[in-house]
Amino acid sequence: MKALVYHGPGGKAFENRPKPEVEGLGDAVVRVLKTTICGTDLHILKGDVPSCEPGRVLGHEGMGVVDSVGAGVSGFKPGDRVLISCISACGKCRYCRRGMYSHCETGGWILGNRIDGTQAEYVRIPHADTSLYPAPEGVQDEALVMLSDILPTGFECGVLNGKVAPGSSVAIVGSGPIGLAALLTAQFYSPAQVIMIDLDANRLDVAQRLGATHVVDAATGNAVEQVLALTDGVGVDTAMEAVGAPATFVMCEDIVAPGGVIANIGVHGVKADLHLERLWSQNISITTRLVDTVTTPMLLKTVCAHRLDPARLITHRFSLDRIEEAYDAFSRAAATSALKVIIEV
Ligand SMILES: [Zn+2]
Ligand SMILES: [Zn+2]
Repeated sequence: MKALVYHGPGGKAFENRPKPEVEGLGDAVVRVLKTTICGTDLHILKGDVPSCEPGRVLGHEGMGVVDSVGAGVSGFKPGDRVLISCISACGKCRYCRRGMYSHCETGGWILGNRIDGTQAEYVRIPHADTSLYPAPEGVQDEALVMLSDILPTGFECGVLNGKVAPGSSVAIVGSGPIGLAALLTAQFYSPAQVIMIDLDANRLDVAQRLGATHVVDAATGNAVEQVLALTDGVGVDTAMEAVGAPATFVMCEDIVAPGGVIANIGVHGVKADLHLERLWSQNISITTRLVDTVTTPMLLKTVCAHRLDPARLITHRFSLDRIEEAYDAFSRAAATSALKVIIEV
């Protein structure tokens, strides 16, 4: 089969690989129909994710059709159309029993990281019964792909951890796919204000179309001052960090209101300053989380009910044999206006 393979920092190749087979009793092999590229894949290619070793097939998002299952799989059979979760979960270990699938002792974020991933014609999914979801009738394949990672990530790490509430004020620092997923799902709770902050005018235009009440272009003027001006000088109840950089985390510290929450979503590679000399008395909370995908069934229901339209985040489409062009477009998002790119297998 064809697959996109990581060859160490800066290196990747589209090449032939053996088709994966069922190895464990709980495995399923899925024929991939649609997959996508994540910002995390770019981090891997930069060498930021040492757990991902050269030779690994990349990709942790996608949907497809079950090709074969191990003898222990009871929830799926060949021919079933399925959503692949970015998080694999055994459902039994101490973390899974607490709903913390991201820390599953034999799973977690392993796809396209510690085991071969979805940017291929076929992928092996361990713990298939608790890591795949039946694809509901009537939901488009492309929309499903947005539920592998970015929607549960924006919702769980940003909206739920950030305690977004009716009438509250929210600022989302970073208007990329994850920040926009948080914007879409924050609206379940009818906040009074959702302020999107970015350096890219195109992404702020998209944010406005997707429901932002205000946008702040950090490239033109002081973003902190603009957020404070929009909130009567007090700041926001929820400040989400959706970039993964020290400066944007500190910006959240500067714009959170007394009693508010800083909800970190971003992947951080270096330390960020925490200004406890200002914040110790402000009754704020800071949360961190790796997505658990425990809300995937609920998000699927909102998509089925047309309360959420995740396909609005898709900007580009490529066939699998053009995946290197897709990486190029995705990695030059400022020039190409790319958000999520769909790879059709
Ligand atoms: Zn991802
Ligand atoms: Zn587990």
